[in-house]
Amino acid sequence: MSRKIICPNPNCGYTGDARQEARGSMAVGCLLCLFLLLPGLIYFMFKSGYRYFCPRCGLQIGQDS
Ligand SMILES: [Zn+2]
Repeated sequence: MSRKIICPNPNCGYTGDARQEARGSMAVGCLLCLFLLLPGLIYFMFKSGYRYFCPRCGLQIGQDS
């Protein structure tokens, strides 16, 4: 699952697939869910989704929530 981006950095101008990074740690969320259900669910609510970066210059393009 990747997203096509056009980098807004005028010195870069990269066009293509964005670099995708998970916002939260899945391991931490699972641990929280195991021991404390509610904080785990809250953690997933706030930390789910992905951030997108330009792979050439590292500029953050956007994020899904
Ligand atoms: Zn760029």
